[in-house]
Amino acid sequence: MTVNKNRSDLIQSYQKNDLCIGTLGSHSALNIFKGAKEEGFKTVCVCKKENAIIYRKFPLVDNLIIVQDFSELLNDSLQEKLQSLNVILIPHGSFTAYLSTEDLVNNLFVPMFGNRELLHWEANRNKQAEWLSQAGLLLPKTFKKPDEIDRLVIAKLPGAKGGKGYFLANSPSSFRKKFNEMVFRGLLKIEDLDKVHLQEYALGVNVYPHYFSSILKHDVELLGVDKRYESAVDSIGKIPASEQLEIEINPTYTIVGNIPLTLRESLLPQLIRMGENVHKKAVDLAPPGIIGPFCLETVITDDLKIYTFEISARIVAGTNIGIGNSPYAYLRYGENMYMGRRIALEIKEAQNKDELNTILA
Ligand code: AMP
Ligand code: AMP
Repeated sequence: MTVNKNRSDLIQSYQKNDLCIGTLGSHSALNIFKGAKEEGFKTVCVCKKENAIIYRKFPLVDNLIIVQDFSELLNDSLQEKLQSLNVILIPHGSFTAYLSTEDLVNNLFVPMFGNRELLHWEANRNKQAEWLSQAGLLLPKTFKKPDEIDRLVIAKLPGAKGGKGYFLANSPSSFRKKFNEMVFRGLLKIEDLDKVHLQEYALGVNVYPHYFSSILKHDVELLGVDKRYESAVDSIGKIPASEQLEIEINPTYTIVGNIPLTLRESLLPQLIRMGENVHKKAVDLAPPGIIGPFCLETVITDDLKIYTFEISARIVAGTNIGIGNSPYAYLRYGENMYMGRRIALEIKEAQNKDELNTILA
């Protein structure tokens, strides 16, 4: 057997009554596997040895494939194996964190749920901003160079994992001071200076709404909302202000977990329209638009302005708060609906209607 590299007929060669749902063992894998099982699919997990314990303790995986490194997903032998098991891959945050967009688009030949073309729009901050602002969303202002800083900004590095290496500054001189401190602490390198993205800091609370865009039903569903629990920023308030000043604390944003949110009901119309508009714009940019889960990363201010600073056009780990249920999934589907299961349900419906080609890339 060899890897079938002809995307257009890949799914044709699959045994349709024996489809498997597969993903990398990390991020939202338990959510995806539980949903797959509840919709009657077999599951395949490509996992690092040290993490296999998760998928042994929670018995949701039919076929556990151990790798040294997630990049092995690109090897012919593993791709052949996944194709022979009729695997449909569900991409999540670890795909984009540990593999390049180019590899995901050009060198991965296992059918994937979602629109691969949108990965290019998601991976590039400028393209993301173009997409979101053309969809009519309010974005924090960006600054081209540190000398332009005239308000509180958050300095971000491309590809930073979990906000590591982000810092705040409110003037050109405070930017230079903080940047040098970050270099001294080993969190940034001198050559990162040109890559730093400077964004207005939106003062408010984090709100991450989770959507599901159904191509089969021509609908965008709101299924849940979370906020993040980040180290060390979420613990800074425990230290008295005088000590904070003394030790010159700089907030860092390493994600540790997620907390479910239910929103003030009058915020829902705007959030629902934002999700619909982002999908509509994606239809223009990369037809047929967003296929499946996506999430907007927003800050809501005290005058109830909603600033969107990022989009993830795939399942986010924040949806793990809904495993079993979330208020919004319950309001729409009743009991026991959540993102992992919603994905599996869409695949099952596409399979029944013989429309798998519409939802896979
Ligand atoms: P990991 O496989 O845990 O290293 O995560 C892969 C990527 O997803 C990293 O960029 C993480 O920052 C992000 N990520 C993982 N878990 C979460 C979470 N619970 N909430 C938000 N982002 C996450
Ligand atoms: P990210 O890695 O982009 O998900 O962001 C990490 C953290 O930085 C999250 O807590 C965000 O809320 C925060 N953050 C990112 N951009 C902004 C912004 N423009 N204004 C306020 N907070 C932000």
